[in-house]
Amino acid sequence: SNTFSQHLADEAQTVAMGERLCKYIKNGAVLFLHGDLGAGKTTLSRGIVQGMGHTGKVKSPTYTLVEPYELDDVSIYHFDLYRLGDPEELEYMGIRDYFSPNAICIIEWPQKGAGFIPSPDLNVEMAYDGEQRTITVSANSERGKTIVMQLGQ
Ligand code: ADP
Ligand code: MG
Repeated sequence: SNTFSQHLADEAQTVAMGERLCKYIKNGAVLFLHGDLGAGKTTLSRGIVQGMGHTGKVKSPTYTLVEPYELDDVSIYHFDLYRLGDPEELEYMGIRDYFSPNAICIIEWPQKGAGFIPSPDLNVEMAYDGEQRTITVSANSERGKTIVMQLGQ
């Protein structure tokens, strides 16, 4: 199957999901994070970034558009495009340089950058389930399929 779903009962489970997911993500991977405000996209990103070895805070890049994490083994670029006005602004911020084979890109609100960002390996949907959440991870490339397969094992 090309999708993986899991119920996430609390914030800690969302962080743990990110920590698990990061084990299967290789350099060059692009992840789109979908879901309403407060659905847990940044919380999941925190699990991924800290799981990769970042020991400091992970703040939402709502106002900066991108937060870089230069780690020993990899660079992670965490985007939040919610406040992006015109997707052409991405050209001015040198968006192309971020999507390198050595980096991992995690993008919240990717639809705001349509036409200016590459297609993802994974589409991740965070959804409300009452007070709790559900994550659905869908593969969108061969690389993505491998990750989804590993999540299901
Ligand atoms: P987004 O980036 O999608 O806007 P955030 O991650 O910033 O969302 O905020 C999500 C909110 O939901 C946080 O207050 C967090 O504590 C909470 N949260 C995260 N995961 C869960 C979960 N599985 N169950 C309940 N609350 C959660
Ligand atoms: Mg967010």
